[in-house]
Amino acid sequence: MLTDPFDREHLWHPYSALDGPVPVLKVTRAEGVLLELADGTRLIDGMASWWCAIHGYNHPALNQAAIDQLGRMAHVMFGGLTHEPAIALGKQLLAIVPQPLDAIFYADSGSVAVEVALKMAIQYQHARGLPGKCNIATTRSGYHGDTWNAMSVCDPVTGMHGLFGAALPTRRFVPAPATPFGGQWDAADIVPLERLFAEHAGELAAFIIEPVVQGAGGMRFYHPQYLRELARLCREHEVLLVCDEIATGFGRSGRLFACEHAGITPDILCIGKALTGGYMTLAATITRREIAEVIASGEPGVFMHGPTFMANPLACAVALASTRLLLAGDWQGNVQRIERGLRERLAPARALPQVRDVRVLGAIGVVELTAPLRLERIQRRMLEQGIWIRPFGRLVYVMPPYVIDDGQLQRLCDGMVALVAGLHAEDMRQ
Ligand SMILES: *Cc1c(COP(=O)(O)O)cnc(C)c1O
Repeated sequence: MLTDPFDREHLWHPYSALDGPVPVLKVTRAEGVLLELADGTRLIDGMASWWCAIHGYNHPALNQAAIDQLGRMAHVMFGGLTHEPAIALGKQLLAIVPQPLDAIFYADSGSVAVEVALKMAIQYQHARGLPGKCNIATTRSGYHGDTWNAMSVCDPVTGMHGLFGAALPTRRFVPAPATPFGGQWDAADIVPLERLFAEHAGELAAFIIEPVVQGAGGMRFYHPQYLRELARLCREHEVLLVCDEIATGFGRSGRLFACEHAGITPDILCIGKALTGGYMTLAATITRREIAEVIASGEPGVFMHGPTFMANPLACAVALASTRLLLAGDWQGNVQRIERGLRERLAPARALPQVRDVRVLGAIGVVELTAPLRLERIQRRMLEQGIWIRPFGRLVYVMPPYVIDDGQLQRLCDGMVALVAGLHAEDMRQ
């Protein structure tokens, strides 16, 4: 059976109604880039489980890392104790994140890493004697997670401000960066930023942004010059720059970290998702010792956050194995190969009347439709194509595991294009 009656009645799924109109499919195992369903159907995975499974599923090296660590300890509290997986992972991360970031706070999910980043920024400004600098600014079309403060800096329209707005802190928003990645830089793009800083820098602790790739807020790729100008303005106005690389980190955009497209280093970096290769939840918020020292110089002399499962040893051990595996292989060659494949095979979608735009950056391919899709109408056709994708709104997109081979990538893209070509008016919300 492809679905499960207990699940339908009792288990909530992301952004879903209990017993909603779109059946949730039961997966029995996964191997490489293939998901196997309860009836034996095998689907080529275009989602990497939401940016995470960069090495594919059931990878022997990651399995072994989990097994080895399990034999020592699955978990121990991080309050007052430390362990080798946290230390070894920390050393590995500091060797690859933009310099001079060197102080790591392990968090247990991306949203928590964002909460931690915002709290760091506010404690930092408070410790400097600037308690009035306690608000956050960001761009529209962003996505930073689903917890309260993360939600407050998500796009107010595609985020959940309509529903939760009155209960959310009010943030400062500028329009989304307009110049596309690879386009001709338009200096007018930063005029709203300059105005924001001129008028409101005195109340801002930090500016948070997803570097170059805006993910779940719209799947947009913008010009790196925007980031360079933003970094300059932040420096000039003593506002901390927080880069949320939870989706883009670990090579997805063609650089190990998307900040590298702009050659900038944020004051605070958030990573998550692909950190463990999709094995379990782990994230990190990384800043400079200097910022940590300022925080420690203020009241109450410590940074005020400490999750129960902070630096979970099992997650750290797998994250270390995943990062080593990435660096030991030709990730860049693979991402470039996927980028070429996506460009070539998604291009035919451009001519379709249902399509507004096709864009590709690194191992991310996006087909933007003219109207939002009705997911419940296309799921069966997706199974017929033998692919697993999870469109939202007007966006049909893929970010496959880096291990996808050329034949699988072609089938994934061709399936996507066929699916889009077959969309009728009744499949879309008008
Ligand atoms: C997914 C995501 C988050 C939230 O991470 P969770 O692990 O789902 O809490 C935050 N920021 C960005 C850019 C993301 O893509």
